[in-house]
Amino acid sequence: MHHDAIVIGGSFAGLSAATQLARARRSVLVIDAGEPRNRFAEHAHGFLAQDGEPPSAILNKARRQLAAYPTARMIDGRATLAAKADGGFEVTVGDQTGFTGSRLILATGIADQLPDIPGLTERWGKTVIHCPYCHGYEFGGGALGVLATGAPSIHQALVVADWGATTLFCARAFRPDAAQTEQLRQRGVAVETIPLAGVEDGPDGGISARLDDGTHRSIRGLFVAPRSRMAGPAAEQLGCEMTEGMLGPLIKVDEMRRTSVAGCFAAGDAAQPAQSIPFAVSTGAFAGLAAHQSLMFGLPAGG
Ligand SMILES: Cc1cc2nc3c(=O)[nH]c(=O)nc-3n(C[C@H](O)[C@H](O)[C@H](O)COP(=O)(O)OP(=O)(O)OC[C@H]3O[C@@H](n4cnc5c(N)ncnc54)[C@H](O)[C@@H]3O)c2cc1C
Repeated sequence: MHHDAIVIGGSFAGLSAATQLARARRSVLVIDAGEPRNRFAEHAHGFLAQDGEPPSAILNKARRQLAAYPTARMIDGRATLAAKADGGFEVTVGDQTGFTGSRLILATGIADQLPDIPGLTERWGKTVIHCPYCHGYEFGGGALGVLATGAPSIHQALVVADWGATTLFCARAFRPDAAQTEQLRQRGVAVETIPLAGVEDGPDGGISARLDDGTHRSIRGLFVAPRSRMAGPAAEQLGCEMTEGMLGPLIKVDEMRRTSVAGCFAAGDAAQPAQSIPFAVSTGAFAGLAAHQSLMFGLPAGG
């Protein structure tokens, strides 16, 4: 039951980390609850050589390749408790205890918390999305919307405007100030100050944005920058130091992806402000490499 490393979260970051460890002939256990952040999208974009593949196809291939290494083990389940133990860490999965590892890698991702506006949740990952680099191209240059929920939405609207004529729809809680309105004007972003009441299916597979006054605006897609929280409890249970990202808390790591807890590393969306598959894979690989080298050379004094 003892492994050189345990990885909690077996998606893009976690599988990437585990692959480095398995290739270094180290024993690695990956625990995964099977809920990657992009599970709502049919296709993933922008990841070299995998553009347009279903997220599950990319992950299944990575799991198959990892499973071929004799020192890699994967279990499906949710890690409910992570604690420091003699010589490393102990992780509980449901009612199964006793999984121990000399090193721990947290790759548990984040959970998006969509604003409470009717119609958003059921369209999330389809016509309601957050990242233009992931899904903006597929809207074919048509009219786009951005839902203004806070200051990060202003930046989002300024960027999204490059993908098509953009309207910033105000939610009840947020209005751009004068300086932000001027920035938006300079990028050609229209501002709709009547609050968005809901979204419905629109013409040609797009969206009909329903405003508080009962009128509708047709757009191809609506971008939202949702607040996020940690998808798993391990960082909090271990007392990892956190940092505040633009949209929610992130695990604080140093340049070697070490958390504030000695022997514990973190990768992917949970510990990375730039959040996409390429960044998750990259930071995961780095965490795997750093964990491996710490097994060889030991941990720095005090961290
Ligand atoms: C709708 C949508 C579409 C997206 N489309 C794209 C795209 O096209 N291209 C792109 O590059 N990026 C895209 N992204 C971003 C991409 O999904 C993330 O950047 C990526 O999934 C992060 O990988 P990760 O491994 O850090 O976390 P995740 O993929 O979220 O994986 C975390 C894993 O940890 C598991 N986990 C959490 N807690 C526990 C626990 N306690 N025990 C065990 N397992 C646990 C989860 O179940 C999950 O399997 C999209 C995001 C969204 C929301």
